[in-house]
Amino acid sequence: MPLPEQKDPSGRYFINEALNNPEALKSMPNPYDCLVESVENLIEETPPTLPWTGRFGGGLYFGLFVGPTSIAFFFLWLSKLHPDLTIRGLSPEDYCKAYLSLEQDKYNPAETPRSGCSLNHEYMCYNAVKACLTKDLTYVQNFAQNIDKLTLRPAFIEVLFGRAGLLSLMRTMKYWFPESGEILDPEIEKVIQHCLSYDPWTFGVNPNNQRRYIGAGHGDIAIISNIVMTNPVYAPKVQGRLEKILALQTDSGNWLALEDGGEDLVQFCHGAPGIVWCLVPLKKYYPDLRDRIDGAIERARKVIWERGLLTKEPCLCHGITGNAFALAEPQRSHFLHHATPSIVRVGLSNETLERSSDNCGVWWSEAGRAWGWMMHEYDRAGLGDSVEDIGFPGATNP
Ligand SMILES: [Zn+2]
Repeated sequence: MPLPEQKDPSGRYFINEALNNPEALKSMPNPYDCLVESVENLIEETPPTLPWTGRFGGGLYFGLFVGPTSIAFFFLWLSKLHPDLTIRGLSPEDYCKAYLSLEQDKYNPAETPRSGCSLNHEYMCYNAVKACLTKDLTYVQNFAQNIDKLTLRPAFIEVLFGRAGLLSLMRTMKYWFPESGEILDPEIEKVIQHCLSYDPWTFGVNPNNQRRYIGAGHGDIAIISNIVMTNPVYAPKVQGRLEKILALQTDSGNWLALEDGGEDLVQFCHGAPGIVWCLVPLKKYYPDLRDRIDGAIERARKVIWERGLLTKEPCLCHGITGNAFALAEPQRSHFLHHATPSIVRVGLSNETLERSSDNCGVWWSEAGRAWGWMMHEYDRAGLGDSVEDIGFPGATNP
């Protein structure tokens, strides 16, 4: 089963054949096989050995975003959901350990102009994932003691490079290792106060070019969700900012990249899909906004269904996999049907799909597709709602 033949004139997305023809709706019979195949591809492309074969950034490691720690985070979750899965004789936990043993400990704890302080910061992510895996407080202490030294970019609040990502990493450590709370709770409080002291939130790697992003990759929505999911007491404090985002939804159902305009993209990092990923777990903290949030999600899903079958290599951040989880069934399965390992392989080799600059990580490549299959398999097994219970790696995990 190939990808749809027709692309939109913009080249950004495939025309969804099921848009006006319910008979073209595809199902996704067996996510488990796709999960296994995707994990095998991952191990083949970037095995847990040195020299590292990751392509992005000349092979440098960037925390949960890119590199072996990113893959280790996927295997950490897989070790919880499929502890007995064996691939080439090793368990998910074995792989998690192996991907954390590739000289990450040589990375500098200092912040650099490119590292940010959180999800893209190797030292912080390595210690966070190690803490989750080993339940050893040493790693929690390494993490906590370094926070105050990350002073280079105090105005970075968004999730990938900024303080909201620190909240996500600390919430993750508490989820996997509740005893870490004693060390982390005071740090969480300080980081939330830091985030709240900035209004508006802006982002830009160039200090002279700061923009007001609203989407999940660099903007307000994932800052709000990380504050509230990490400590729900703060929900009323950011309600005004949330209502402002809801009011910025366009007539088509999308959100532009910036508060005052910007690109009209349909992906996790910018646009409706990321906002839905964040609204789903946020909803329960805002009973008074329930109808407005439900209405916003419904309108968002229309634009994702129409324009979300992206021609970029399927991944979580800007691809079919991430967009699928912003939809509900049966639309979600229809999307995932277009991002199976065999379709991706063919699409990349005949250039129907645009290859990502990363070849392995959980945000932009194979580990993200494996993550998607893990989520879909969880839903299919009736274990719960994967968007709430598993979430987007580093951004909306419980
Ligand atoms: Zn992206």
